[in-house]
Amino acid sequence: MKKVSVECRNIRLSYGRTEVLKDINLLIEPGEFFALLGPSGSGKSTLLRLVAGFNQQNSGQLFVDGQDIGGVPPHKRNIGMVFQSYALWPHMTVWDNVAFGLVERKLRRAEIKARVGAALELVGLSQYGKRRPNELSGGQQQRVALARTIVIEPQVLLLDEPLSNLDKNLRVQMRQELLALQRRLGITTIFVTHDQEEAMTTADRMAVMDQGVIQQVGSPSNLFDFPCNRFVANFVGTMN
Ligand code: ADP
Ligand code: MG
Repeated sequence: MKKVSVECRNIRLSYGRTEVLKDINLLIEPGEFFALLGPSGSGKSTLLRLVAGFNQQNSGQLFVDGQDIGGVPPHKRNIGMVFQSYALWPHMTVWDNVAFGLVERKLRRAEIKARVGAALELVGLSQYGKRRPNELSGGQQQRVALARTIVIEPQVLLLDEPLSNLDKNLRVQMRQELLALQRRLGITTIFVTHDQEEAMTTADRMAVMDQGVIQQVGSPSNLFDFPCNRFVANFVGTMN
């Protein structure tokens, strides 16, 4: 699969009179695992939803693979998103949850079967196809949500605090799984989190966001060693 870049150029977005994204400039490299770190309310989800096409900017441009995708509706963007609240269909089996997007795209049955099987295997849930979401643990449910997203073979993977509902031990394990999966697939990934350790231990590069402004972008060690201001220093932990 082709690895693509994602670029935000001078993006601004307001809800009413409140500006939530203030001149966002970001270039995420093809195949990169990029973490977007910031406190609650800083605008992370708003930015992610904008990349997915659920939010529209007031000004600025969004490029994927060098193409301005501003006018492209969400279902045509080839972007997959995973949420904190897994958002699985409770009345459907694991298999049907994962197959849903492929059935919607009217793929042939044999292809659906092959792709769902492969996706479930990738997340280690081959044996769980017949279960329903409420018969699974939180970690397993999040793996189903991941499988459902990667099965459509998106070029960009957006993860909005996907591990926040899990307990600490599982979170540490799952973030390693996530990273391993991303490495295997090579999908350009934006991983949103408010947990600095989660960002620092996974990301190729990361951005620290506060109040709708990207404060700094760099490798985890770069931000840790050379924070550009007090907020970044506090947030990535050098001043704790
Ligand atoms: P984060 O994901 O970093 O916690 P959000 O992007 O969810 O932050 O929110 C950023 C700001 O935008 C917050 O102040 C929030 O209250 C506001 N906001 C988010 N969604 C909406 C909306 N649909 N309408 C109005 N304000 C919103
Ligand atoms: Mg959020």
